[in-house]
Order: sequence, then structure tokens, then C-alpha cells
Amino acid sequence: MQAAGSSARSPAPRPGGPDIVERHDPGLPFQSERRMGSTGLRPVYPARAFTRRRGDRTQLVRQVVQAAFVVLNLWIGARFYLWVRYYETGGATVFVPRPPGVEGWLPIAALMNLKYVLVTGLLPPVHAAGLFLLVAFLAMSFLLRKAFCSWLCPIGTLSEWLWQGGREIFGRTVALPRWADVPLRGLKYILMGLFVYAVARFSAADLRAFLDSPYGLVTDVKMLDFFRHLGRTGALVIGGLLVASLSIKNVWCRYLCPYGALLGLVSLASPARIRRTPDACIDCAKCAKACPAGLPVDRLIAVRSAECTACLACVTTCPAAGALDLVVGQRRRVPGWAVGLAVCAIVLAAVGLARWAGAWHTRLPDAVYFELIPRANELTHP
Ligand code: SF4
Ligand code: SF4
Repeated sequence: MQAAGSSARSPAPRPGGPDIVERHDPGLPFQSERRMGSTGLRPVYPARAFTRRRGDRTQLVRQVVQAAFVVLNLWIGARFYLWVRYYETGGATVFVPRPPGVEGWLPIAALMNLKYVLVTGLLPPVHAAGLFLLVAFLAMSFLLRKAFCSWLCPIGTLSEWLWQGGREIFGRTVALPRWADVPLRGLKYILMGLFVYAVARFSAADLRAFLDSPYGLVTDVKMLDFFRHLGRTGALVIGGLLVASLSIKNVWCRYLCPYGALLGLVSLASPARIRRTPDACIDCAKCAKACPAGLPVDRLIAVRSAECTACLACVTTCPAAGALDLVVGQRRRVPGWAVGLAVCAIVLAAVGLARWAGAWHTRLPDAVYFELIPRANELTHP
């Protein structure tokens, strides 16, 4: 999909090594010089004046938002576990209300409910919170590309922490060769296609029957059970992904996540994009080096790729003022703090809307949970 990110290309980069050093004579703007690698040779073409970008705190803001959503998900997970234990023990443990946010982890049920709403115009009676969250993440992808992946998703954050930790330990990360990278990136679209096809072929009545079946009612509990009773195969796959994530950037997100693939396709229609201004660019290639998606930012005018997660690492790294920005439409610049504010506001708006519509909580009689949750492991697809 990297090629899909190509837009009009700027003229071929000027020759020279990747290192830029800036000078500053009083009263003059900064100037760049290129070094020829480690040979210490001086520039082979005239130094280029540039104004140094003022330091911004976008990555700090992003890390705070990421950490907040990790904590939120841990809190949701802990409360959901206690809720499940209450019903598993026949009411012997402390009762904690079910956190509806757990349905953010049920993307297939949310996709089913989305089709149900589109076909019938009716709000679903169960797992509607997941539907509102899915719509919020789709809207976010349209407005801000795949910002969900790099700002909110706990799996994306964990992936980022892993490769950053691996880089500290091993001193580098590994980029797969293009012949392996491109087909592997296609895997997530295949997985997404299978899920979308499976949902699309259900009628609205079939979807309702599935989600209202015993299996559908406790599909959240079954997800918890998958991790609580992880088999050898599951442990090997997850362990392998964790190990690979130490040396390859965002393995899960980049190659396997069908949710990210869906959001990426929506992001192709987004009016927001990273835009490079060749006149201000000094061709240092720092943006491309910083991009965790491996996009050739330094050779594009606009990054339109479905792989771009609006992490703004490229913008933060760029030394030249006005060379690289997240813009909406042709030129309207979007600051990093505004992205953080917007992703949080979209999630809060979705929760508020769901509450207002009376659909945030799935309300089933206690007797149903007392009967189904203790035997959730035995329930199979209807
Ligand atoms: S570094 Fe820039 S181009 Fe790469 S994913 Fe982040 S925002 Fe997109
Ligand atoms: S956009 Fe910025 S980081 Fe990228 S090559 Fe140009 S000056 Fe360097």
C-alpha cells in the first residue's frame, strides 16, 4: 500500500548524505550543509537557508493520550473481570456494574450491529455501545486518517512501546525488505475482507438472531475466556508477535490488524493529510526515517497512504519550519494538540450520544447472566 501513498512527487532529491547541520549567523536564518556520510567532506552544492522549526510537544501530548487510554482500558478490563466473576461464582463475589466500554473490543459484533442499523434503522438491543464506538472510530478515520491507531488503540500503543524498547535493547529496529513487506501488509486487508464478507451475507434477521443467541449475548465473556484460558497455539502466536514486535515496528498493526485495515480504507477519503512543501524542505529525509509506517515522506508532496496513522512523528522530527504539516484541504494546518483534542472529543461525543439514546448499557436480566456466564466456555456459534 506504500505505493498508494504516492502523490505528485517533488523533483529528485539533491545529492548528498542524510545528515544536515545548521549554522546560525546573527541576523540570518539558519543554513543547512550536507555532510557526505562519515567522510567529513563539505557540501557538493550550495548550503540551503532554512528557518528552524520551533520545538513542539505533539509527541508528548500523544504519549499522554495513549497512556490515558491504556489506563482506561485496564480499568475497563479489571471491572469487566470482576463483573464476570460475580456471575461465575453465583453472586459470591462483589458486584461491579458491567463497563460498556468493553464492547470496544468486540469489533465484529459492532460491525454486525452497524449493518443491522443500516438495514432496519433500529438501534440494536445488545452490544450497542460497541456500535457507537465503531462509528466514532470510522468518523475519526475520515476526519484524521488512522489517528485511532496511533493515539487511542491500546494494542497500537503496546506495539509502539515494544519496538521502542527493542530499539533501546538492540540499538536498532529491522525493516523487512519490500518484497516481503508489501505482500505481508496485504494480509490485514484479506482478513478484513473475510470479516466484512461474513457480515455482509447475513440478513438483518440473521444478525439479530446471532447477537441475541446465548453465544452472542456473552460474546464479551468468551473473549475474556480466550485470554484467560489461552491454549498452547494461542500462547505461541501471541508470544511470537510480542517477540517480533521488539525488532519490527508495529508488526500486528502493520500486517495483521483487520480493524486498522478497515479504518485505513476509510482514511483514504479523508481531507486531512501530511503535506510537504518542497520550497521549505531541505531534503534531510528525517521524516521518512521517523515514520513508523515506513512511508517515503521525504519524496512525497502529500501522504495519502492508508498506512498513515497521523502519529505526526514525521512532522515533529522535521527541522525546517513550514516544510511538513498535517493539513486539511489544501493548506489549513492542524496542530498536534488539536488532533489529541479531536480524538478525545470524538470518543466522548460517541459515549454521550449513546447515553442520550439510552443505548450505552446492554441491559439483560440478572437471571440470564447467572445462567450463561458460568457456562460461556461451552457455548458455540448458533
Ligand atoms: S510519521 Fe507521518 S507519514 Fe508516517 S504514519 Fe506518522 S503521520 Fe503518517
Ligand atoms: S520534510 Fe522536513 S524532515 Fe522531511 S526531508 Fe524535508 S526538511 Fe527533512
